[in-house]
Amino acid sequence: MSTSPARRPLPHGPLADGRVSVFTAGEACRKCYSCVRSCPTKAIVVRAGQADVDPDRCISCGQCVLMCSQSAKRVRSSLEEVRGLLASGRPCHAMIAPSFPAAFIDMEPGRLAGAVAACGFRTVHEVAFGADLVSHAYHRRYAAIAPDQPFVISTPCPAVVSCVEKIYPELVPHLADVCSPMEAMARVVRRLAAGPAGAGRAGAGHTSTAAVAGPESARPAVVFIGPCVGKKDEARRTDTVDAVLTFDELTELFAASGVDPAAAAPRPFDPPTAGLGRIYPVTGGLLKSAGIASDVMESPVLIVEGSDRVMELLDVLGRLVREGKPVRTRLFDLLFCDGCIAGPAMPNDLSFYERKKYVVGYIDREPRYLGVEEWAAANTRWLDLDLSVSFTPMAVAEPPVPEEDIRAILARTGKVRPEDELNCRACGYASCRDKAIAVHRGIAEVEMCLPYLISRLEDAISSIKENQERLIQAEKLASMGQMAAGIAHEINNPLGVVLMYAHLLQEELGDGAPPRAREDAERIAREAARTRTIVQGILNFAREEKVDRRPTDINALLGDSLAGARSLDAEGRIRVETDLDASMPSFRVDPRQLRQVFDNVIRNAIEVMPGGGTLGVVSRGLAGAFTVQVTDTGPGIPEDLLPKLFTPFVTTKPVGRGTGLGLSVCYGIVKMHGGSITASNRPGGGACFEITIREPAERAT
Ligand code: ADP
Repeated sequence: MSTSPARRPLPHGPLADGRVSVFTAGEACRKCYSCVRSCPTKAIVVRAGQADVDPDRCISCGQCVLMCSQSAKRVRSSLEEVRGLLASGRPCHAMIAPSFPAAFIDMEPGRLAGAVAACGFRTVHEVAFGADLVSHAYHRRYAAIAPDQPFVISTPCPAVVSCVEKIYPELVPHLADVCSPMEAMARVVRRLAAGPAGAGRAGAGHTSTAAVAGPESARPAVVFIGPCVGKKDEARRTDTVDAVLTFDELTELFAASGVDPAAAAPRPFDPPTAGLGRIYPVTGGLLKSAGIASDVMESPVLIVEGSDRVMELLDVLGRLVREGKPVRTRLFDLLFCDGCIAGPAMPNDLSFYERKKYVVGYIDREPRYLGVEEWAAANTRWLDLDLSVSFTPMAVAEPPVPEEDIRAILARTGKVRPEDELNCRACGYASCRDKAIAVHRGIAEVEMCLPYLISRLEDAISSIKENQERLIQAEKLASMGQMAAGIAHEINNPLGVVLMYAHLLQEELGDGAPPRAREDAERIAREAARTRTIVQGILNFAREEKVDRRPTDINALLGDSLAGARSLDAEGRIRVETDLDASMPSFRVDPRQLRQVFDNVIRNAIEVMPGGGTLGVVSRGLAGAFTVQVTDTGPGIPEDLLPKLFTPFVTTKPVGRGTGLGLSVCYGIVKMHGGSITASNRPGGGACFEITIREPAERAT
């Protein structure tokens, strides 16, 4: 049928119960919070990452349904309900909202009426006539509101009405006492359906009972068809409208009823014929058809459309009313969408201007419209219809949240100082404070903070990187160790033989041998001994020993190491400064291995101070962990050596003096103890080695 631009049909679904017409299809929700961001009344409750609709705050404006890319937010479908009505044998009457020319752009109005009738409706009306009646009532009551009378908020838009009732209850007395065009038209239809006898009985407010008495099976059914989700909620609160179909659902109804709209026999809409009320879905339509002027400069009338602007205005009005301050504007014409032609259930992607063109084009094609007074004169038989309506404040009281609770919640996402509150709105709330309040009320979750999640992610990534580097290093050392151990093992035996024969040769040569031969034999023995030291170092580095933990006095271990190192400073050039933590408890470590670490680090420190200096040894320990620092006043560690200091064979000592294995062995031992060893240069000169070892949790006493 229609070739209007493709648009994702508004997702509909069955909703067994619920006070509002928007709901979440849980399995489709993907934690993007776009519904929280788009919801003007913050009626989305996020629990365990699942965004549900809070019926106490939802005004069924449909914004979340439009914004949800996953179709997790859906509109209650009334298709089966309407099919049931049509099949029930009850006389069914359809009323189409005045935005239809912008919705079904390829279909003549007469053909649309014919297609709807072909589904089984007895009559097909234009809601625009209800709009004419409403406009006339506004003209009479509100064209000139005296300054001493309360200001008035228009009520055709169900989202505006719900918003006032649920969020700004102090404004309820200011809602216009005139029902919506849908309700007015339903009362017209019911009066017509009741025939002359029922005339004058139709029409009542939200709390009315059935307009036409009689057995349920004979009671006329009235179905509204339009671009609005909120109308579904409005209809539930009245007895005049039985069901509301969106334009998408009407298309589904055609298909389900086997009706091809393109082949439907055209027919006119059923009377009464609509007038200027057809302009209702376009900005300022109500005022235009009510003959109420709105002057930008100083009008007592203000038109406000769009959810953001409407919410901002209601916020201001609510505050002024609570504070008892005057409001100069007399009549506020409010629509939650940019006119009903921008309603959430419009079935195409046409621009606002194109839609307006289609609506105005339809009006222009019809007989010339009348001004409000001429219209009234031509429709006197309808002027007595009761258009009254009542509204109920329904706001749920929310106690204020204590300041310290807000601060505590903010702190959970690292917001301690005012500048930490980025107010980025990614969570859907206008400020970090608003979100903290929502967390306190149990409708939002701490994890909804994007900057907080990003910083946690960055931390996680850097710790993964760190661990990766450590792993690579450990793997390198392990494989190098294995290879080295293999080589060392192979060399060890022939080396022992070389050494033994070198000593034998020395003995055999005796004192009478030529000096050259004695020197050669001596050199062979010396170099073989040196090689054995290297091989021993390699085997130490590569050994796969287990840590044999036992309660150890760390200070005593350090004392033994220092005593053993005394021989390295035979001339007494080194001053030893110790600062050992006397209150340090004993720790479960492998004393033999740890002694090796202390010996190595202390020996290195003494060796880098051949001309004398100060060796510092500090220990600190609390239950569970201890740290030992060994400092010297030597030349410090060359900067280029620092990153690879604990790698095997890194040495600056001359050949024969160092193997470059000492620190890598220390590293392996400390790691096996689950600790860390770091090297740094001290600001005042010299190096500092710090060893920290944490005891495993299952500490035995
Ligand atoms: P080695 O002592 O056999 O060279 P180590 O692994 O113990 O092997 O040390 C590696 C290198 O680290 C040393 O050659 C030296 O250059 C550097 N180094 C170790 N301790 C110190 C220190 N306290 N001050 C400056 N450099 C040091």
